[in-house]
Amino acid sequence: MDKLNRSFQSSIDNSCFLKNYLHNQSAENAGEQMLGKPGLLSARDGAPVVVERASGQSRVILICEHAGRAIPEVLGDMGLSAALLESHIAWDPGALAVSRLLSTALDSMLVHQRFSRLVYDCNRPPEASDSTPEISEVFAVPANRGLGPVAKAERAEALYLPFHERIDQLLDETAHTARNAVIVTIHSFTPVFKGQKRDVEIGILHDSDRRLADCMLKKASAASGYDVRRNEPYAPVDGVTHTLRRHALQRGLLNVMIEVRNDLIADAVGQGR
Ligand SMILES: [Zn+2]
Repeated sequence: MDKLNRSFQSSIDNSCFLKNYLHNQSAENAGEQMLGKPGLLSARDGAPVVVERASGQSRVILICEHAGRAIPEVLGDMGLSAALLESHIAWDPGALAVSRLLSTALDSMLVHQRFSRLVYDCNRPPEASDSTPEISEVFAVPANRGLGPVAKAERAEALYLPFHERIDQLLDETAHTARNAVIVTIHSFTPVFKGQKRDVEIGILHDSDRRLADCMLKKASAASGYDVRRNEPYAPVDGVTHTLRRHALQRGLLNVMIEVRNDLIADAVGQGR
């Protein structure tokens, strides 16, 4: 019992040491604004990752990295107006609603991120400069200006790691392995980007594994009535296939990323279509 107690006490001492260390570092380096705080997310912020229809029977696993636009309380408004925090720079409007409709229609599990991509873009690896963008489209994001490595790591630990580790865990579970899961990520894009109007309505995106995308493009061009294009308005070179690469390519799973122009899914009628 004593041994256990000593070990417990030693853990407490270590954790106090760590807290003091972080606090002192914080005072010494004002640039590292997040350093020394107990963590990016408080209990009031809630969990970053949501899994819906966890017992869905479909092979398809739907993933929505830009579903939410929550901001951790500690970051305030990130220096942005309310209008920008509701705009496409903060999230993919309509993408979660479409994902939920698909999840119901297919009986598929859906994994989504509640926090804004401005805090951390879960479709980017931690080493990518745009994982915590200083500029999104043409808008400066004051809370991301000059973030140091510790602050960046804290964002990744709070949002990126739990999100992707949860997906890893789900894919490791026997039921999904046995079912040979299919990874489908759902996104939306703005009809006007950097002043340029976009005609494409639905993008079917893929990385080096094009099997599912080829099949979808073949069917879409014949019957959808929409302007459907391959690897538009973004392509792998833009870094948008990170989730596909991390989870599907490694495991040899069928995969695709679907981008829908957000004016088409702005309301329930469009989302249902
Ligand atoms: Zn997106």
